[in-house]
Amino acid sequence: ATPTALMVGTGRGAQLGILIKGPEVLESTRRVDTVVLDKTGTVTTGRMTLQEVYAAEGTDEKQLLRIAGALEHASEHPVARAIAAGAEGRVGPLPAAEHFENVPGRGVRGRVEGHEVSVGRLFDEVPEDVARARREAETSGRTAVVVGWDGVARGVVAVADAVKETSAQAVRELRELGLRPVLLTGDNRAVAEAVAGEVGIDAADVIAEVLPEDKVDAVRRLQAEGRTVAMVGDGVNDAAALATADLGLAMGTGTDAAIEAGDLTLVRGDLRVAADAIRLSRRTLGTIK
Ligand code: ADP
Ligand code: MG
Repeated sequence: ATPTALMVGTGRGAQLGILIKGPEVLESTRRVDTVVLDKTGTVTTGRMTLQEVYAAEGTDEKQLLRIAGALEHASEHPVARAIAAGAEGRVGPLPAAEHFENVPGRGVRGRVEGHEVSVGRLFDEVPEDVARARREAETSGRTAVVVGWDGVARGVVAVADAVKETSAQAVRELRELGLRPVLLTGDNRAVAEAVAGEVGIDAADVIAEVLPEDKVDAVRRLQAEGRTVAMVGDGVNDAAALATADLGLAMGTGTDAAIEAGDLTLVRGDLRVAADAIRLSRRTLGTIK
């Protein structure tokens, strides 16, 4: 490819809302055959809202919500924000949390009102009624987290996210370009399959319950199968996978870590622009072979 053509491609990219790190990026874009999509914040809006609260027998629902909200108040995670905002709305001002600790891809721990509290996927053993409440929320497509303190799981808080309006169309366009879409998420499988079904990704192409550090391995495994992989993501959790993929596309609405790790930035956070980027690179490089 001539430098001039590549520069023109780069300029056209800016008009489409695609920021390209360097002209050479277009070259790897053209070879991509698989597109791995992060779920939360990429396929979905990432703006979650509190839906349901389940308190086990002997636990006060308001106390459960107040304690969970107080702890999540210290976290930036979309799940945490929904729980903190929802708790504040339902039970009023939240107490302070101490010794806050974030466990990436799992949840949060800390001290609230004299209790050692955990919220997230942090309990090995969960009483049957709590497990049932979690399962019911998840089969209806919600992200459910277990709340407990002093070593006992005491209830479930469920939040819901919405698929972006443009995501199903984006998946169709990616398929039309001959690419295979894969959904990758740390969230529960039932939730991931519900989202995949909504946008038209096969259940067999859903990789769920993946810890943040294992997202990279998921990309490497696809590469080991001989695929050329583009990864689209927005979170701190996605940065390593974006850097490992043959092509990393960061949502401009996402975190700085993701944007720094990506080769391309989709400025408006619209997944359809991922298809535009691939079309542009094929066209730019196609004209100058
Ligand atoms: P994704 O891959 O969809 O962006 P993450 O890897 O960030 O998701 O999180 C995976 C799962 O870990 C969440 O669906 C949730 O169950 C749990 N989790 C992560 N952070 C928190 C938190 N602050 N509070 C509760 N649960 C959390
Ligand atoms: Mg995300």
